[in-house]
Amino acid sequence: MLYRSTRNRDEKATASQAILKGLAEDGGLFVPEQIPALDVSVEALSGMDYQETAYEVMKLFLTDFTEEELKSCIQNAYDGKFDTEEIVPITKAQDAYYLELFHGATIAFKDMALSILPHLLIASAKKNQVENEIVILTATSGDTGKAALAGFAGVKGTKIIVFYPKDGVSPIQERQMVTQKGENTFVVGIHGNFDQAQTGVKQMFSDQGLAEGMAAAGYQFSSANSINIGRLVPQIVYYVYAYAKMVKKGGIANGEVMNVVVPTGNFGNILAAFYAKNMGLPIGKLICASNENKVLYDFFATGTYDKDREFLLTSSPSMDILISSNLERLIYWIAGNDDRKNRELMEALQKDGKYEITDEMRGRLAGFYGNYATEEETAAVIKEIYEEEGYIIDTHTAVAAAVYKKYKQETGDGAKTVIASTASPYKFTRSVMAAIDQKYQDRPDFELVDELEALSGVKVPKAIEEIRSAEVVHTSVCEVDEMQDVVKGFLKR
Ligand SMILES: *Cc1c(COP(=O)(O)O)cnc(C)c1O
Repeated sequence: MLYRSTRNRDEKATASQAILKGLAEDGGLFVPEQIPALDVSVEALSGMDYQETAYEVMKLFLTDFTEEELKSCIQNAYDGKFDTEEIVPITKAQDAYYLELFHGATIAFKDMALSILPHLLIASAKKNQVENEIVILTATSGDTGKAALAGFAGVKGTKIIVFYPKDGVSPIQERQMVTQKGENTFVVGIHGNFDQAQTGVKQMFSDQGLAEGMAAAGYQFSSANSINIGRLVPQIVYYVYAYAKMVKKGGIANGEVMNVVVPTGNFGNILAAFYAKNMGLPIGKLICASNENKVLYDFFATGTYDKDREFLLTSSPSMDILISSNLERLIYWIAGNDDRKNRELMEALQKDGKYEITDEMRGRLAGFYGNYATEEETAAVIKEIYEEEGYIIDTHTAVAAAVYKKYKQETGDGAKTVIASTASPYKFTRSVMAAIDQKYQDRPDFELVDELEALSGVKVPKAIEEIRSAEVVHTSVCEVDEMQDVVKGFLKR
């Protein structure tokens, strides 16, 4: 199986080459030439554990990895770093099934992909005789940064540099990052928002002069952002696993459709569900949930993607995004794998801040439903589910839960529905607790950790205990236009 760039079909790569490159040379994203069909039955899958399921899915996409290589990557990723053997447990509350993707090292769903990416990358480097040291450059809206740092810290042959918006992440997210240990790690706050951080990183990736200078010094860039197919592919696994588990535990009859609701930012998680559906998994609607930065909702409603609007800081910061990078893969697909059409639209986005898709392309979006939740709706649903079920969800998951309510009201669709639960409530303690009771509004996040434990009955995760007393080791801050100099400076050390 080969991968092609969404902006130039002639740029091809093997899976391992695509993982090493991250972004294609023309600025496009790598997509598989065709989406492979699952070749094991749901019965067989329902008897498999997470690691076995991961192998069955990933082997179809990463065809230049040997069985031994792939299984070794999987075993190294999905191990005791997760606090449950199930890896992704499913909890029913009200009329939905919450697929808990936050049981890894940094208690957010980014761990699902970032605990395996370093292993895939090192295997890919060996396979392609790469001698250079690999420098991971990442822009984060909060959760990617820590999950990538945790994944790459201490991994030989790699360095990792993370840029985050200084005032755009939660206090717990920031503390998780700035206390990261490891000689090969570097964390920098920028005076700007996530989109500016991401644009700065993208510019460095496509800067040929910079790449040549780096190569001369023995380095090459790679990306841990969700555009890397080494992140996308592992995310397909948990949808397949969830479906098989729903069949096994009786929630769903084999073959019955299951809807999926995904709290969406960069469009990576929901795209993985779309790929799972195209592999033959009986997924019904793909419900795309946005917060008040509702650029995707507007896109599904009107066919126009328009990023020129006010950027809002919400209580679900990992979804505060106006340029959903992974949407490009869907645009390419609905354009009928037309690289020229896709490139035209992406150039319009860069030049004019917007693009409009054709009616024919819109017709191919019928499997999606988009909506958004306001800050009030998000808080209200946290409180309601806590009061009715004693179950506490985080703010991102709550956006999805609120949108699911709107979807059901609008459509009456009663299909069994899985909500991707993307973070532990412990990661956004203050917003979560304030939603339950206003009296917590002005208390610092860390003070509320014990209160959350008392209310939820869920033990404080190790990831939180660790940072309570950890030393701050990263204090760098820079302007958006200084990012490149910061990178060069770190690599000279
Ligand atoms: C990253 C993230 C999201 C958004 O996921 P995308 O793949 O970028 O759409 C949602 N919730 C949480 C907690 C996240 O960390």
